Amino acid sequence: MEYISTRASGSGDAEPLNFEQVTLAGLAGDGGLYVPTHWPKLTSAEIADMAGLPYSEIAVRVMRPFIGDVLTEDELRDLCEQAYGRFAHKAVTPLVQLDGQHWLLELFHGPTLAFKDVALQLLGLLFETFLARQDKHLTVVGATSGDTGSAAIDALAGREKVDIFMLHPDGRISDVQRRQMTTVLAPNVHNIAMDGSFDDAQAMVKRMFADPEVTDRFAISAVNSINWARLMAQIVYYFYAASQLGAPHRKVAFSVPTGNFGDVFAGYVAAQMGLPIERLIVATNVNDILHRALSNGDYSAGTVTATAAPSMDIQISSNFERLLFDLEGRDGAKTAARMKAFEETRDMQIAPEMLAKAASIFSSERVDAESMALAMSQAQEAAGQVIDPHTAIGLSAARSADVDPSVPIVTLATAHPAKFRDAVERATGSRPALPRRIGDLFDREEACDKLPGDYDAVKAFVTSRATPANG
Ligand SMILES: *Cc1c(COP(=O)(O)O)cnc(C)c1O
Repeated sequence: MEYISTRASGSGDAEPLNFEQVTLAGLAGDGGLYVPTHWPKLTSAEIADMAGLPYSEIAVRVMRPFIGDVLTEDELRDLCEQAYGRFAHKAVTPLVQLDGQHWLLELFHGPTLAFKDVALQLLGLLFETFLARQDKHLTVVGATSGDTGSAAIDALAGREKVDIFMLHPDGRISDVQRRQMTTVLAPNVHNIAMDGSFDDAQAMVKRMFADPEVTDRFAISAVNSINWARLMAQIVYYFYAASQLGAPHRKVAFSVPTGNFGDVFAGYVAAQMGLPIERLIVATNVNDILHRALSNGDYSAGTVTATAAPSMDIQISSNFERLLFDLEGRDGAKTAARMKAFEETRDMQIAPEMLAKAASIFSSERVDAESMALAMSQAQEAAGQVIDPHTAIGLSAARSADVDPSVPIVTLATAHPAKFRDAVERATGSRPALPRRIGDLFDREEACDKLPGDYDAVKAFVTSRATPANG
């Protein structure tokens, strides 16, 4: 399998990359995102054969077409068994029934209590495997509103040939999220609490990726969902859940609490690969750019409102570009022009023909704070399930969506309720306990440097501590 940029224009483009190269690169040099040259297909018989298989085995079968000959099947199986062996539930991502039509897919049994672990545990192992071959040192730089940072640090702590620098907005993440990052004292982990918002931290990171003084010396890579390998690992659980509910003989719908459009895009890829998905419900909070885009074509960025579901407090959804590329007939020049105009004006209107294509699989719902709290208390009363605010937005959207009652709807449960226990307590009156695997998080020592929101200060911090690409 080869990979191209969503902004590739044909002539004069860089050579297509293989899976190993896209995993280490993160973002394409032309500012686009990497996508495979085509969507591989699985036959109905191959999907039927998944029934009853363990998670790691389904992972091998779904991911191997994307990986090509960069890893042997046995190497891939070994990495999947290591990554998913760290999950606290034997089923890795158990499926729980709420009532006749509604199900929850629990994606939060990894080490840091959010679905980001599903992809990042594997990504950490992929980095280590590829770096060992290439004799190269990697510098991961990222900004986090909490969940990506903790999952990436857990996955990369102590690994050879990689340093991780993670910026978070000082004072704006939950105490559990902060401690999951700052109590990891491995020498290759560098936590930075930066003055400013998440958007300021993100802008700082983007500037570093485009700064030749940094990129000429250091091999910089990304761990957020612009990295293709992360999306690839998330395709697996759509197959896993649908297979348990009768795929390929029965259709299934999914409701996905969405921020950067990464998780739900993985569902779109599953459908392109042949999984019979009836509908993908894009659930947003009041930061509703994706709901506006999919319901009336208005992709214009407003300002971010802080909510009880902070991992969805996003105005610009990076992975939406991957869908636009497909909707434009995979025309990189058109996608590049569209994205450049958006970057200047923060506004994009999507034409009716493109919207109609998207509507054949996507629908969307905007869920406000009141409906979110209601979904939390109803899940507890009706099914004895304590759910987190992000999951509650997904479930509320699933209940409002217009889906045939005979089709099961799976809501992705993206975080453990204890990760957002203050918000859960406000909605339901009870405070979820931290699971035992979190251990003595609140007694451990923290290590974190505070920096002003100043590019030169952050750059000097990173370049004086990182190891250059060639050692
Ligand atoms: C990251 C995150 C989301 C949003 O996922 P995207 O891939 O950005 O759409 C939803 N819920 C939780 C708990 C998250 O951490």
